[in-house]
Amino acid sequence: MSQEGTERKGKGTVFVRAEVCKGCSYCIDFCPTHALDFGRDYNQKGYHFPVLAREEDCTGCDMCGLMCPDFAIFGVRWKDLDARAAANVSTTVQP
Ligand code: SF4
Ligand code: SF4
Repeated sequence: MSQEGTERKGKGTVFVRAEVCKGCSYCIDFCPTHALDFGRDYNQKGYHFPVLAREEDCTGCDMCGLMCPDFAIFGVRWKDLDARAAANVSTTVQP
């Protein structure tokens, strides 16, 4: 699974399971901020898969994930990722 937007240019980012993608473009078509495009690479099935082409425009709303019929992409807000990470850390240090 690849993660885009690690420099945090926007409010969120996406995770893409490239090998599951069938290149239908629903995620790209329904992204409300037009943050996604197909990349140049192909997966092993021969499909282009989406990339976060405009990181600064991603809000992490997960509309892309809701529209994907193959669970090949999902979006997340950075603040939610941070909250989960903090929860994991606190759980880890609890006796
Ligand atoms: S999380 Fe939302 S804004 Fe980001 S790429 Fe997906 S649909 Fe677009
Ligand atoms: S909606 Fe899912 S299967 Fe379709 S192009 Fe996007 S990631 Fe690939």
